[in-house]
Amino acid sequence: MASQGIGTQCVQAGYTPGNGEPRQIPIYQSTTFKYATSEDMGKLFDLEASGYFYTRLQNPTNDLVAGKLAALEGGTAGMLTSSGQAANFYAVFNIASAGDHVVSSSTIYGGTYNLFAVTMKRMGIEFTFVSPDCSDAELEAAFRPNTKAVFGETIANPALSVLDIARFAAAAHRHGVPLIVDNTFATPVNCRPIEWGCDIVTHSTTKYIDGHGVSVGGAIIDSGRFDWTAYPERFPGLCTPDESYHGITYTERFGLEGAFITKATAQLMRDFGSIQSPQHAFYLNLGLESLHVRMPRHCENGQALAEFLAHHPQVAWVTYPGLPGDKYYELAQKYLPNGSCGVVSFGVRGGRKAAERFMSRLRVFAIETHVADARSCCLHPASATHRQMNDAELTAAGVGPDLVRMSCGLEDKADLIADVAQALE
Ligand SMILES: *Cc1c(COP(=O)(O)O)cnc(C)c1O
Repeated sequence: MASQGIGTQCVQAGYTPGNGEPRQIPIYQSTTFKYATSEDMGKLFDLEASGYFYTRLQNPTNDLVAGKLAALEGGTAGMLTSSGQAANFYAVFNIASAGDHVVSSSTIYGGTYNLFAVTMKRMGIEFTFVSPDCSDAELEAAFRPNTKAVFGETIANPALSVLDIARFAAAAHRHGVPLIVDNTFATPVNCRPIEWGCDIVTHSTTKYIDGHGVSVGGAIIDSGRFDWTAYPERFPGLCTPDESYHGITYTERFGLEGAFITKATAQLMRDFGSIQSPQHAFYLNLGLESLHVRMPRHCENGQALAEFLAHHPQVAWVTYPGLPGDKYYELAQKYLPNGSCGVVSFGVRGGRKAAERFMSRLRVFAIETHVADARSCCLHPASATHRQMNDAELTAAGVGPDLVRMSCGLEDKADLIADVAQALE
């Protein structure tokens, strides 16, 4: 089945109904599951048998959809979370604890930056932020003996920098730690980071994968390729017995292909409970079924808008990885040959005030704290998602005060361009 195309996988992977069973993924709208004997249930708690007992940890609908995402990303195991924030938190916290350190790209989503730099710092985990364009020497210098992971975004939201995944993966592996990549903007249709050496993929499924502005969600997919057992002292949570789970050693019991996701489920989902509801997992699957059809249209509209803006006298600058001459054009050609995404960032001449005036005149694009939706929308990050950052931090994150983020939906590109043209006049 591995030879199936991405479109067939978007539609069918993860669920093969038997004779007379529902064609569509059933929604297991149940908090709990019934067993005949206490012994049967005890085996589940000990992770000796696989099965469901309580939806805070696992639910069959979620697992079917997570299985489809794992297939799409080329991973061995996956899990859904209640949000992208929960996915990135779990992915890092599953291997880093108080006293540990993580290297992260500086151009990441504002919510993730805050999670790392403020909230996880309060938990005792330190982050060093490096530019995705840093030299190899700068990247090397960011590592410490207690570094546990490297983190970046395939296409950063909203800076639209493209991560050199192979370069960051090689650096991470030289230091015996995994590379975690948030693949939200590219989606597995446009890039599969695992093929470039990434070890763990995360998603805010709220964006293109849902695609219709219906439900907040996240996902983690493990490549199954990182050999935790080569560094047992660095990753004791995966390589030594978990006393909170009857002395199970995750790598021994579940192998490299299952250890990371089983630990994240058994410990983090158990204790933090950021599960996605089965109903939302069902919506997510509806989004996945058309992802491969929608992404090319988002990219076509994004490309057309970027080219229009690039030639407009009222526009100070445009960032779009598919635009020849863009700082990330070459990296996009390498990692995103079929298109990057529908998001275009640009600066209106006249700075912050002009940006706000421009946005208030738009009719087809709506002002929303959202992105990557079927309906076109736009945002001024400096006054919204990145509001907590000062000007120096904004610049380091690649989000200047004049930046407007345009998210091209699935409408006709002529209407999108006409809307922007009248608002710029
Ligand atoms: C939106 C987003 C997140 C956070 O996801 P939520 O689903 O809103 O919690 C994380 N990473 C990226 C790249 C995002 O765009």
